[in-house]
Amino acid sequence: MTAMPTNVAEPELRDWLTATTGEHIANDYDAATQLLATFDFKAKDSSSLNNQHQIASCLAPAPTTWPEPFIPLSAEAAAQHLLEAFRITRKPANYATIFVDLPTPVIVSRHQCPFCRRFTRADVRQVNDHMTRCWQNPGLRCCKTCIHHQDGSHPEDDESCTHPTGPEWEEYRFPVLHCPLWETAHPETFVAQEGEIKERR
Ligand SMILES: [Zn+2]
Repeated sequence: MTAMPTNVAEPELRDWLTATTGEHIANDYDAATQLLATFDFKAKDSSSLNNQHQIASCLAPAPTTWPEPFIPLSAEAAAQHLLEAFRITRKPANYATIFVDLPTPVIVSRHQCPFCRRFTRADVRQVNDHMTRCWQNPGLRCCKTCIHHQDGSHPEDDESCTHPTGPEWEEYRFPVLHCPLWETAHPETFVAQEGEIKERR
């Protein structure tokens, strides 16, 4: 029979924080990671258990007015904040051996280009960078999004520009970017606004 773990009291938590993270919480996410290796956190106002974001937000520096520097939370204040929000118990002493060979599900975020929907990366900066070059970005005024573009899928026709004053087929090189003759192939999706093409969906 397993005994119910008793709730951790404030002096115990404060001393543990002081010994582990020091007098002040320098990094709220690192501290939450360390806390989660030793304790279980059950939210008092919801059913959430061991939510690292929630724990880290209890440890965030005290708000100050710019340009005052952030004041890191003391271990004592951190213990108070945590105990206001959570019922905290110690993990069983043999926790590491109990869970060591269980697969752990992880949820990851990726970012997708809204234009082509093909380019995805974990790093949003790479997607932002791609979007400036994506042929499906209407702001680039490229053949791929132009109503005058004929793709090469028809067996008797080569890829070409069908605009009357566009380049002849032997001069045409795909893709033309920032084309003055460009007109959207999807007028229902995009609307011209202040000289720019904006996404409407
Ligand atoms: Zn794209």
